[in-house]
Amino acid sequence: MASDLDTTPVIATRREEATGFFQRMVSKGLGWARKNSLWQYPYVTACCGMEYMSVSSARYDIARFGAEVPRFSPRQADLLLVVGTINCKQAPILKRVYEQMSEPKWVIAFGVCASSGGFYDNYATMQGIDRVIPVDVYIPGCPPRPEQVLDGLMLLQRKIQDQQHKLIDRAQVPTLAQGGGERR
Ligand code: SF4
Repeated sequence: MASDLDTTPVIATRREEATGFFQRMVSKGLGWARKNSLWQYPYVTACCGMEYMSVSSARYDIARFGAEVPRFSPRQADLLLVVGTINCKQAPILKRVYEQMSEPKWVIAFGVCASSGGFYDNYATMQGIDRVIPVDVYIPGCPPRPEQVLDGLMLLQRKIQDQQHKLIDRAQVPTLAQGGGERR
């Protein structure tokens, strides 16, 4: 006598499973596209900027990772590179820049000053930018070597690839009249 197990089809195709498969494929495709086309906003305040220039130029060639184009409006960027020391007075400005970036967005703390305040353990220096904005990758070093920066960038790329990316229905995006976006 045949049991239930014998009569269950090998491939059980259900609507949710099919939709889930489609969403996973879309997510993978979006992850691949996003990790290879990062639009960076360099928020450069101090000496780490020299290494930022180095990693951006021909010798280290950040263009190999699809992240070579800096944007000078946060609205056009999805990667915030915080390069250098951030003092407490700058914290609200940094937070505002982050909020102006469109989703999805990522943040790299470039060097120990951005990551933890570095050796500026005093009342004026913020002891790490993660006190005001979320950070995806911390790059150590004072300053970090360009190789370290590229290593951090590749770490972020892996993180982006593994994230779940969703398609957004344009009809659900709030308009300015509905309170979406920022008013000046
Ligand atoms: S980590 Fe070192 S090199 Fe970078 S901003 Fe701070 S003091 Fe300057």
